[in-house]
Amino acid sequence: MNAAPAPGSTDRTKGRRIPENSVTETAALHGVLDAGLVAHVAVVDESAQPYVLPVAYARRGGQVLFHGSTGSRLFRGLAAGQPTCLTVTLLDGLVLARSAFESSMNYRAVMVLGIATQLAGDDELDALACITEHLLPGRWAQCRHPSAKERAATMTLALDLTECSVKIRTGGPDDDPADLVDPIYSQIWAGVVPIGKDFQTPVADEHTPSHVEVPEYITRWRTS
Ligand SMILES: Cc1cc2nc3c(=O)[nH]c(=O)nc-3n(C[C@H](O)[C@H](O)[C@H](O)COP(=O)(O)OP(=O)(O)OC[C@H]3O[C@@H](n4cnc5c(N)ncnc54)[C@H](O)[C@@H]3O)c2cc1C
Repeated sequence: MNAAPAPGSTDRTKGRRIPENSVTETAALHGVLDAGLVAHVAVVDESAQPYVLPVAYARRGGQVLFHGSTGSRLFRGLAAGQPTCLTVTLLDGLVLARSAFESSMNYRAVMVLGIATQLAGDDELDALACITEHLLPGRWAQCRHPSAKERAATMTLALDLTECSVKIRTGGPDDDPADLVDPIYSQIWAGVVPIGKDFQTPVADEHTPSHVEVPEYITRWRTS
């Protein structure tokens, strides 16, 4: 199998604006996808109205997997072969410059262009396991797997990572040099307010027997 083209290597995905934030390594593409929990998938309906759907997802090798309801008009459009655009954005920090204009965000972002395909049979079940394991590592081994009825209500789609782009911004503000020597604006606090991924203490629901403790695989999410 041929390796997929590097991120940003097609005319449509080549970074033009602030190209220094564009990253062409496939490892970076995989790293962002593996770190995110939510993707946004674009779909245009029959009246040409665009919609952007937030979805849970997982990466499986060179594919992004996501699922929806077979009753969803928008998902049916994707399964029918509408071109789409999927993004994953990780916010790493707020960047406070001395001016509003130069204030920014630190982020890792991925964009994938293509046409999704609908999965079936064991391949679909494997994809559902991948999505569960990506979001809830360790859970697939313990939870009840989808019944035939639940499977019938679920549409699982795969989007190949063949036309992608990655943009990553790191570092501090890029201030206008004049602001750094201005008697007023040079006195303003500037820098980065980092944003972390921080799971809180799990809260059991009212149906969980009191003797059932939080499984070790869940407590690990807080520290990994
Ligand atoms: C959290 C966050 C906040 C942002 N806030 C703003 C904002 O307020 N204003 C603003 O102008 N820009 C913002 N950006 C950057 C914005 O997403 C675009 O990258 C930027 O506007 C340039 O778009 P363009 O189409 O002119 O870039 P181009 O360089 O012409 O885009 C060329 C190609 O690069 C790829 N690409 C573009 N943007 C991204 C991306 N973000 N992630 C992955 N691939 C990408 C696409 O494949 C695109 O076709 C933000 C990005 C993030 C992640």
